[in-house]
Amino acid sequence: MTSPYDILFEPVKIGPVTAPNRFYAVPHATGHGWHEPNGSIALRATKAEGGWGTIINPMTEISADADMGNHPLDRLWDDADIPRHVANVQAIKSHGALVGIELAHGGMRARNYHSGLPVKGPSGGHILRPEIPMFTRKMDKSDIAEFRENHKAAARRAKQAGYDILYVYAAHDLSLLSHFLSPNNNHRTDEYGGSFENRIRLLRETLEDTLEIAATDCAVAVRFSVDEPDKANGIRHTGEGRDVIEALAELPDLWDINIAGWPSDSQTARFADEGYQLPFMDFVKSVTTKPVVGVGRYTSPDAMVSNIRKGRLDLIGGARPSIADPFLPNKIRDGKIEAIRECIGCNVCVSMDAYGVPLRCTQNPTIAEEWRRNWHPENIPTSKTLKSYLIVGAGPAGLECAWTLLRAGNTVTIAEARDVAGGRITRESALPGLSSWARVRDYRTYQLGQSSNATLYLSSALSASDIAEFDADHVIIATGSSWVAETPMLTPDDIMDGLLPTNSVQIYDDDHFYMASVLAEHIALAGLDVSYTTAQPVVAGWTDFTLEQDRIIARLNALNVPMHVNTPFSTLQSGTVLHVGHRAPNDSLFGETRDLLGEENVTLCGDALVPGTIQAAVHSGHRIARQLLGDPLAGNTVNREVPQILL
Ligand code: ADP
Ligand code: SF4
Repeated sequence: MTSPYDILFEPVKIGPVTAPNRFYAVPHATGHGWHEPNGSIALRATKAEGGWGTIINPMTEISADADMGNHPLDRLWDDADIPRHVANVQAIKSHGALVGIELAHGGMRARNYHSGLPVKGPSGGHILRPEIPMFTRKMDKSDIAEFRENHKAAARRAKQAGYDILYVYAAHDLSLLSHFLSPNNNHRTDEYGGSFENRIRLLRETLEDTLEIAATDCAVAVRFSVDEPDKANGIRHTGEGRDVIEALAELPDLWDINIAGWPSDSQTARFADEGYQLPFMDFVKSVTTKPVVGVGRYTSPDAMVSNIRKGRLDLIGGARPSIADPFLPNKIRDGKIEAIRECIGCNVCVSMDAYGVPLRCTQNPTIAEEWRRNWHPENIPTSKTLKSYLIVGAGPAGLECAWTLLRAGNTVTIAEARDVAGGRITRESALPGLSSWARVRDYRTYQLGQSSNATLYLSSALSASDIAEFDADHVIIATGSSWVAETPMLTPDDIMDGLLPTNSVQIYDDDHFYMASVLAEHIALAGLDVSYTTAQPVVAGWTDFTLEQDRIIARLNALNVPMHVNTPFSTLQSGTVLHVGHRAPNDSLFGETRDLLGEENVTLCGDALVPGTIQAAVHSGHRIARQLLGDPLAGNTVNREVPQILL
């Protein structure tokens, strides 16, 4: 039987190797780094199992002077790293996927904290991390020769480990090769500086070196950022971005194209729609005959097909879509489009990376738990004893808990006080820029709606005695949390309940994530005067981790919202204050129910257990369900990567 999506399952020749389909999991840090290999291998292998035809390892440091620590990336510094990569290759290939590796040197953005070696680049000056007081050593000819030898040695080791695709990395302003290319960073006057021909020389040489090592065994890809939209004097796809592709057009076996820096490449749904990178990169295929992969948070199979048919891309790149749903390709293959767990574009995954810990995902609670907790994104072990569960509250925690218990074969009933499911998802996704967050609700309500063993009752605010009367085998209380403020101040809940003040509003942000800025937008768009104030030295401090902070400030500026930082609450003027403070758990029902039914029959879950992000609520719903199912790895006990002592 043919399907409109068959084209996505065509093989694609990449130099000497062939990708089994067009689903291409591009490199992304998983937070495991080189020191938690079991977790990172299992994460990637799960994507291969789910149908991603090509899986690329994250940025892999080629040598000690390319050290990105404390940012946990992979390493191929010497032969001691090879066995780990052999295990990675075997795990991914066992599912029939191609496996590649992004060999990289961070150049002027390396840190070398771990190695203690000088940070190097085409020219001297401050390293490209303004927050770090370190300087770059200008590379001389022997440094350049050493870099080339190190890149070749890493390529040799990668080939020995069995990788199919070797990457030359020149993207994100995070590569020595992009630093040599950039007239902003390269002030040399020798044959590696000045003219375009000179500035591209090291990229060309590194590419030729890697092709020589790859020979007829591996493909060689170049990852290149064709534009830097956020940089006033950055590279442009209409200028040198295009010139680079033209100059090297047929040399690599594959072009992996994106835009830089990372905040442009990984934009959230609040600021960019699916396919946002296309306008920068749809020229690439007209310049090269080699296959082209591109990203843009693609979760819609129709958009994917359209990109292939219109000759814009050959392979659909996915980092976040493959995190949110490692089984996205298989679901498309099997015609289960509604079962895709679409990325909502929130960048919680990205934020974990900034902390240097294994990533988390709002949509996929099992990501980075594949090895640690032995969790599979699609398979829940069948319950030994089937039970009836009553879940009170249809927010992200309650829905995820119900869906997990259901998948294990149980009967679930969900009671929701409001006339609509989704809890905070429904309320927050109505705010400006957050509509895609409704996917967290819709994925789960759709799945629950497919089963006769799941019932969702809306407009059903239950009391403890209602719950006791229901007589379920077990009760889960997922009643969420409420924003707290002292009267007469307003809370975010008031605004989400539809209240709009009639006079000007001062928002005071003690939360530091998205909520205060989103409410400022909402109120400004309603035509009211609104200001933003915080005690922190920055606006929406935590959104730096989701790469949104600059865009939030730009948007508030565009809406003429005055922003005051370093400002104590006591200095607010009299008038309407909207306090974005903290949330308290709605857990009184839990206490009452426990008193009636006994501790062993009631479990607290999600924001009602402890208020947090939506990601934390989904994870809690999933974890509590697994715990109730008897999973020994759903609590404090997890599989640990224990360092080895060499005596
Ligand atoms: P979480 O993030 O933990 O899922 P939410 O606040 O998003 O929490 O969702 C909690 C849901 O629980 C809300 O939709 C709320 O209406 C519902 N709820 C709260 N109390 C009751 C109750 N007594 N009976 C039924 N539903 C309730
Ligand atoms: Fe997408 Fe958010 Fe999951 Fe990242 S955390 S993959 S942005 S849903």
